[in-house]
Amino acid sequence: MCAVTSTSRSRVVVVGAGFAGLSCARALADSPDVDVTLVDRQPYQLFAPLLYQVATGGLPEDDIAYPVRAAIPGITFVRGEVAKVDVDDGSLRLNSGAEISWDRLVLATGSIGNSFGIPGVDEHALQMKDIRQARAIKNRLLGTYERVQQGEQPREDLQVVVVGGGPTGVEVAGAVAELQKQMAHEFPTIAEHAHVSLIEAGPRLLPSFSERSSERAKQSLSKLGVEVLLDSAVDRMYP
Ligand SMILES: Cc1cc2nc3c(=O)[nH]c(=O)nc-3n(C[C@H](O)[C@H](O)[C@H](O)COP(=O)(O)OP(=O)(O)OC[C@H]3O[C@@H](n4cnc5c(N)ncnc54)[C@H](O)[C@@H]3O)c2cc1C
Repeated sequence: MCAVTSTSRSRVVVVGAGFAGLSCARALADSPDVDVTLVDRQPYQLFAPLLYQVATGGLPEDDIAYPVRAAIPGITFVRGEVAKVDVDDGSLRLNSGAEISWDRLVLATGSIGNSFGIPGVDEHALQMKDIRQARAIKNRLLGTYERVQQGEQPREDLQVVVVGGGPTGVEVAGAVAELQKQMAHEFPTIAEHAHVSLIEAGPRLLPSFSERSSERAKQSLSKLGVEVLLDSAVDRMYP
């Protein structure tokens, strides 16, 4: 348990060493009357835009995880998962049992994935919000080739479905198609069964981009062999 001492300096605790938490901690680091403590359950900042590269074997995990412990001079980094915040008491508790007191608390803990209540998604889909999940996707993609080759799984299991035609879905679908092409050299007898589809509920890919970009993305994916299904909402997922 951390000792609580009275001080005239303001104790600011920032929870979350993502883009938001790091920016906040960096902005406060040079303030003369502030002691900044940055708390995160991971000792690194994740660069999520490149998660799809880790998920498809294009980049090693270290390339998208930047150590934060000493990233900002003049602040204290504490590794731990915040389990409870006591607003009345001005303290928080980590799952290790340690407590940290604060005068000002910044919660910059990001977001979690959403299955939109679609039956089967929580149980069967692989999400991609952190390194552990990206690693799980990579292991599933690569491991399936081995198991299909060994006759332990049906060939249909080489068919990959990516749901969501936003930037991440487009990137993942393209990268999976490229991975499947590479795997064809190692697994020539089963490679023809590999396939990737991208499913989007709306009428076009990349809905937040211009229509021209949507069309280009669709054409590029088609060239890579990705089957793009538009106006197609997933309403259930099976194992
Ligand atoms: C696959 C993917 C691709 C993306 N691509 C892009 C892109 O191309 N361009 C773009 O602008 N945005 C992109 N984003 C979105 C972008 O990553 C987020 O908007 C951004 O990371 C949000 O920053 P944040 O600091 O709010 O949260 P995060 O970056 O999620 O950071 C939150 C931090 O809080 C920590 N944390 C959470 N709970 C606790 C707890 N209880 N105790 C301790 N620590 C905790 C986490 O470990 C994490 O380090 C992408 C996101 C994903 C998932």
